[in-house]
Amino acid sequence: MKPVAIIGGGWAGLACAVELADAGVPVTLFEAARQLGGRARRVDWDGIPIDNGQHLMVGAYRETLRLMARLGTSHLLEHRPLELMLPGFRLRLPRLPAPLNLVLGLLRAQGLSLKDKLAAARFMNTLKERAFRLPRDETVSALLRRHHQPAGLVDKLWAPLCIAALNTPVEQASAQVFCNVLRDSLAGERADSDLVMNRADLGRLFPRAATDYLTRHGATVHAARKVERIERRGGGFFLEGPDLVAERTVLATHPARLPRLLEHMPEAAPVIRQVAAYTWQPILTLWLRFAAPPAFPFPMLGLGGGHAPWAFEREDLAPGLVAIVVSAEGPHLEEDPETLRDAYLALLSRQLGALPPLLGWKTIVEKRATFACVPDMDRPDNATPVPGLYLAGDHTAGDYPATLEAAVRSGVKCARLIVKTG
Ligand SMILES: Cc1cc2nc3c(=O)[nH]c(=O)nc-3n(C[C@H](O)[C@H](O)[C@H](O)COP(=O)(O)OP(=O)(O)OC[C@H]3O[C@@H](n4cnc5c(N)ncnc54)[C@H](O)[C@@H]3O)c2cc1C
Repeated sequence: MKPVAIIGGGWAGLACAVELADAGVPVTLFEAARQLGGRARRVDWDGIPIDNGQHLMVGAYRETLRLMARLGTSHLLEHRPLELMLPGFRLRLPRLPAPLNLVLGLLRAQGLSLKDKLAAARFMNTLKERAFRLPRDETVSALLRRHHQPAGLVDKLWAPLCIAALNTPVEQASAQVFCNVLRDSLAGERADSDLVMNRADLGRLFPRAATDYLTRHGATVHAARKVERIERRGGGFFLEGPDLVAERTVLATHPARLPRLLEHMPEAAPVIRQVAAYTWQPILTLWLRFAAPPAFPFPMLGLGGGHAPWAFEREDLAPGLVAIVVSAEGPHLEEDPETLRDAYLALLSRQLGALPPLLGWKTIVEKRATFACVPDMDRPDNATPVPGLYLAGDHTAGDYPATLEAAVRSGVKCARLIVKTG
């Protein structure tokens, strides 16, 4: 098997490397940062391991969960039946076979009128009858309007779900991708709708385990080794930076990095055009360290308020640690960090009562956390117009929004394609 160079050690690049190594393909991976993991990585905060951003998975993340099982880190994940707790709203799916769990969960939901519950059930049923395929893509808000979803139901259920899953507000988000997510989670098997939380920092969960695995399987992983540009040379690709020629190369970087990397390769122009049309959405995470653990009724709590922040209890990382995550663009990004911290502390204590003294806090804003998942996106395939050059990443063609599962699926798919071409 011809060797493969992978540029980028995020979840897509690492998943691709693991799959290739398993197939006996020699792999060398280059990661620009000192830390592997990309947009889902460990960060050190005064000696405490935290995540660059609070992440949440669901039971439908089949490839990601399969990979964790292979790497032996499944025990670092906690699976819980879906439970959404927001001020004035609570939805809890019982441990019953699907679709009974959803029907009963909706019926028992607190904070929804009977009209809301029936509208939600009708909506899911209609989508199911149409196999969750829309005749044409549109925004989520247009889809919800066409299906007469009451405003209260949209505010309490559909909008928070859309923003959490697609990191894009309902007025902009792709209805087809939202339907794909509903199909695989709420309308899938019972366990597919489970919330899956990491109970260790993201670095331990995947990048570190993947690096150990790769090293044991003869692959080479270089951190802090940036590839500046690539160009065709001889029968392969010259990687400027490490200064080597690779016969086959996988670009597994953030899509925003592709135009510069590929600027000397005119044949790759179609890929550059595709990613140049992307726009980006941010995610803000506020980490709070309290003197004692605040009493969470459930490890994930909606705080309501503008732009629907969610609070996560993260006792697994350090006692009294809480992460508050705010998805997508919004006025919160204009606030100064102290004002925002105080506003979220007030929302948190409205839910939990008096909070223990605050020992420290830290805000991390990822400005290009994900691509804006808008209707009719033209996402590039894993194979590019340049023979031997491949793409992997959450942005490549697929059913899912920019998520860990999209990244892992893309990496695995890319590896299988390479193995198939010999
Ligand atoms: C704050 C935040 C919260 C999120 N929350 C969730 C969530 O709850 N659930 C969920 O499923 N998803 C979530 N996501 C999305 C998820 O993290 C991403 O979809 C996924 O990590 C993307 O992985 P990737 O490998 O495709 O890309 P990346 O993670 O961007 O990896 C690309 C890698 O390439 C490296 N690189 C770039 N240029 C070069 C170069 N020239 N040479 C060498 N290396 C290079 C980068 O340093 C990086 O490590 C969140 C993202 C963020 C930022």
